[in-house]
Amino acid sequence: MNVLVINCGSSSLKYQLINSDTEAVLAKGLCERIGIDGRLVYQKAGLDKEITEAPMPTHKEAIQMVLDALTNEKTGALKSLSEVDAIGHRVVHGGEKFAKSVVIDDEVIAAVEECNDLAPLHNPANLIGIRVCAELMPGVPQVGVFDTAFHQTMPAKAYLYGLPIEYYDKYKVRRYGFHGTSHSFVSKRAIEFLGLDKNNSKVIVCHLGNGSSISAVVNGECVDTTMGLTPLEGVVMGTRSGNIDPAIMEFISKKEGLDIDGMMTVLNKKSGLLGLSGGVSSDMRDLEAAAESGNKNAENAVDVLCYSITKFVGGYVAAMNGVDAIVFTAGIGENDGKVRKAVVDNLGYLGITLDEEANKKRGEDIVISTADSKVKVAVIPTNEELMICRETVSLVK
Ligand code: AMP
Repeated sequence: MNVLVINCGSSSLKYQLINSDTEAVLAKGLCERIGIDGRLVYQKAGLDKEITEAPMPTHKEAIQMVLDALTNEKTGALKSLSEVDAIGHRVVHGGEKFAKSVVIDDEVIAAVEECNDLAPLHNPANLIGIRVCAELMPGVPQVGVFDTAFHQTMPAKAYLYGLPIEYYDKYKVRRYGFHGTSHSFVSKRAIEFLGLDKNNSKVIVCHLGNGSSISAVVNGECVDTTMGLTPLEGVVMGTRSGNIDPAIMEFISKKEGLDIDGMMTVLNKKSGLLGLSGGVSSDMRDLEAAAESGNKNAENAVDVLCYSITKFVGGYVAAMNGVDAIVFTAGIGENDGKVRKAVVDNLGYLGITLDEEANKKRGEDIVISTADSKVKVAVIPTNEELMICRETVSLVK
C-alpha cells in the first residue's frame, strides 16, 4: 500500500509518501509559510530536493501542490493519485476520547473538534488537513494518529494534578502527555531490539529534541510521562521552561507588567535553553559550542537540561520500582553523546556503566551500556511518520 502521511501545522505541513510493504519512503518534504507567501520542498527518493516558491494562501493550495509534485510527470513518485491507498494524519490532541488511532469519519471529526480547546494552535490545523484531503482525494480512507493516545493508559494517580477535582470533572484538566507516537514507536522497538519480555518489562523513553518528554512504560503501556495538559510541562526544552513553581507566573507578571498571554509567551517561547543561555540559542549544537568557548550561561543551560533529565529518569525508576532499559531518541537523544553521558554517569547506582565507544556512534539502533550493566541503555532513532504509516495500514487493510 502507498500511504501519504500528513502532519499539518498552523502555517506549515510535513508529508511523506511511504510504501507500507517495504516501508521505503518514496517521497517527502514540507510546505512552509502557508498563508504568508508559500514554499514547497519536495524530494523523491534518490533525487535532489526541489524547492518551489509559490503562493499558498491556505492549506488547500499547499496540499494541492504536494499532490501535483507527487504526480509530476518527470519527478513524481506516483503516476496518478489513484495510487494513494490511504492517508495517515498526525493529530495532536485526542483528549480522553482517543486512546487509539481511528479511521476518520464525520463523528471523529466532531470529536477532534471538541478537543480544540486543549490544543488551540494544533488541532484546528490538523482538521484543516483532514478536510482538504477529503476534498482533494475523495474516497481515500483517512486515519487519525494522536500524539496523546499512547499515554491514555496512565493511571489516575499519574494523570491527576493536585487541583480541585471539579476542574477535572468540568474541563478535563489533567496530564495528557505528547510525543505519544514517538514514545510508542521507540518503546516497542526497544523491547524488540533489546530482547525484553513485553509482558514483563520496564522501559524509560527519553525523547529529547527541541520539545522534550520522558515516559515510563511498563509491559508496553505508558504509566507516566513528563508533558501535561500542554507540552509546556516537564524537562527544560529549547524554548519552553518545563516545570517551574507556578507562583513565578504571578511574581514575574507583576514585576514586568505582563498579562497571562505575555507570561505564556515567556514560558513557551523565551524560556528553556534559549532563555537560560541569555538568548544565545535554543539549539544544543550552538549552546555546546558557546559553552566550550567559555559562555557561562550556555554552560549552565546545558547543565540544567542534563540535571532535569536525570531527575525525571530517577523519578520514573522509583515510580516503576525498577527499570530494564533506558532509551534515548530525537535530535538531542540520538545525536548528543555528551548529554547521554551526563545522564548515564549519574545512574551508576543502578549498576549502569556507559560504553564510551558505542556512545560515539550515530544513526542506528545501538546499545550504549557495557555488557555487564544491570540495566540496558540504548539509542533508538525515532520515526513518527513510519509509526503513523503502520497505524494507518493496520486500520484500513
Ligand atoms: P528535534 O526537535 O528532534 O529535531 O531535535 C532538535 C534538537 O536536536 C536541537 O536542539 C539540535 O541542536 C539537537 N541536535 C541535532 N543534531 C545534534 C547533534 N549532532 N549534536 C547535538 N545536538 C543535536
